Amino acid sequence: MGFWWRPLGVLASVLLVALILWAASGWVAALGFLAGIQAFVMLRRLWQEFRLSRWLESPDEVDPPEATGTWGDIFYRLQKLQRRQKASRGQLTSALEQFEHAAMAVPDGMVILNGNEQIEWCNPASRKYMGLDSERDRGQFIRYLLRQAHFLDFLDAADFSRRLVCKSPINREVTLSMQLVPFGEGKKLLVARDITDLERVDAMRRDFIANVSHELRTPLTVVGGFVETLADAPELPASESRRYFDLMLDHTRRMQRLLDDLLTLSRLESADHVLRDESVDVPELARALKAEAESLSRGRHRVRLQLDSEAGLKGSLQEIRSALGNLVSNAVRYTPEGGEITLIWRERDGEGIFSVTDTGEGIAAEHIPRLTERFYRIDRSRSRETGGTGLGLAIVKHVLTRHGARLDIQSTPGKGSTFSVVFPAQRVQRPGAPEAGQVIPFPELGQAAG
Ligand code: ADP
Repeated sequence: MGFWWRPLGVLASVLLVALILWAASGWVAALGFLAGIQAFVMLRRLWQEFRLSRWLESPDEVDPPEATGTWGDIFYRLQKLQRRQKASRGQLTSALEQFEHAAMAVPDGMVILNGNEQIEWCNPASRKYMGLDSERDRGQFIRYLLRQAHFLDFLDAADFSRRLVCKSPINREVTLSMQLVPFGEGKKLLVARDITDLERVDAMRRDFIANVSHELRTPLTVVGGFVETLADAPELPASESRRYFDLMLDHTRRMQRLLDDLLTLSRLESADHVLRDESVDVPELARALKAEAESLSRGRHRVRLQLDSEAGLKGSLQEIRSALGNLVSNAVRYTPEGGEITLIWRERDGEGIFSVTDTGEGIAAEHIPRLTERFYRIDRSRSRETGGTGLGLAIVKHVLTRHGARLDIQSTPGKGSTFSVVFPAQRVQRPGAPEAGQVIPFPELGQAAG
């Protein structure tokens, strides 16, 4: 109602003046006055309409014209409307920009397809995984760009609960998991996720289970076979059955060693297995390892110990013993009779280095990078004959990783090998450090065999 007060007030005043004029000067003067007012109103209206149309040509760039009275009111309201629109347009644009930035940053490939399976939009990751380009391929039919038969079947099936696992069309090393998600009116979002690492872990898990089963099958078959033989022939001579029992014991121990190593590995891998921070007296540990080497060698090798440092280490005594014990036992097992095994503990540039050198068969260069893989063995039967499980160096690697240490392997086939464990400076403890070293008694040492 506020809008009407002013024009009605003006109209009433004009009529009052016209009536006064009529009374004072007659009707001609009153009509003349009214015609003048009418002409003034029309001209003013034309002028304001002209200003309004000029403003409407580019309302975002120029402010609306200023005026008083009713026109001023109209312009003011228009300006308010325009500001509100501008603000909501700004909000919408920034929301869209944010969405686009987020979609650009998503590591999965994303492609929006319209009802005809034409590309409407795709993010940069879709170039990496599917070779699509948002500019070049907009409007293209996805079928013409990704033509693999399994992908076309996947599109045809339009089963939105299904995932297609396939190799990337532009990089065979990458495995993708694709999914179609319906949205809007007939539109689809194609999402491609890189699952190469998951696949690799899955393949490793499968290999691991196959390896463990394979490792257990032989000793189990042997033990089973002997038990059957003994059950079927109770009258077997004592010497013969003694031999069978010894073999069964051998194979049972083999299974036991394998299970022990598997449990050690799983303990080392478990996230809640906290690394203990003990003081390890390395010179004393080295002496215990030398004794262990001599006991395993049973006089077949010459074992030497060289202590160039009195430093100790900070870490888990049991784990470090197990890792270094594996290296020592491997040196004994892979060095022919008459060979020499040398254990050296020294420091270099603040790092602590424990090395085990043998004059054994050595290792060809191509095997060295793979030695710490589970069940990787150069000579399977040699490893088994000497009581190996194929897990020793995998355990060593895990222990070293947990201690921030690394394994360096130098070897010359036919001449021998040196396995050096390099502990970082922050783990090395100078003699005289507050806590004295403590060593688990020798028989408790786990991992006698590598
Ligand atoms: P294993 O129980 O078979 O010894 P490891 O993981 O300890 O398993 O070692 C993996 C393989 O590395 C062994 O099978 C062997 O072929 C090789 N290897 C390890 N140490 C030595 C060594 N000192 N000399 C020669 N070959 C070695």
